[in-house]
Amino acid sequence: MKKQHPSIASHTLKMDKRKRIGLVAHDYRKRDLLDWAEYNKDILKNHDLYGTGTTGGLIADKLNLPVHRFMSGPLGGDQQLGAAIAEGKLDILIFFWDPLQAQPHDVDVKALLRIAIVYNIPLACSRSSADFLISSELLDEPYERFLVDYGARLKSLSKE
Ligand code: PGA
Repeated sequence: MKKQHPSIASHTLKMDKRKRIGLVAHDYRKRDLLDWAEYNKDILKNHDLYGTGTTGGLIADKLNLPVHRFMSGPLGGDQQLGAAIAEGKLDILIFFWDPLQAQPHDVDVKALLRIAIVYNIPLACSRSSADFLISSELLDEPYERFLVDYGARLKSLSKE
């Protein structure tokens, strides 16, 4: 099992061979995500898929695979994905956000991207990074993900 360099980690979280993958796309990026998912169907079918309401429905229809659907993004779906990451229930996030349009739920988008970093999950926001991620040999192996000890850092900050 591959490990990251342990220098800043306080503990690890094990990711199984079968990954739980979150898929989200803003409206103008949905076609791109659907094309990508269709192209990678043979890989995705070996993992558990999660998505925001509309994106998840489109992917389930196009790929004919089960997708656990949260609420639509603007109605709380991004927050539900973020909560799943914080609770250790999601391993990977593919999030095609729209760089040309502000969203009514911009704050939720920012929160989701932030929480993905806090919990050090693999995150791809562009098609090329999604290609690199899905073709990684780590996708089909267990992996021990290091978690930074932000609690200790917050404590030391509060003493400054
Ligand atoms: P949707 O949400 O899949 O329900 O369109 C995506 C988003 O806006 O985050």
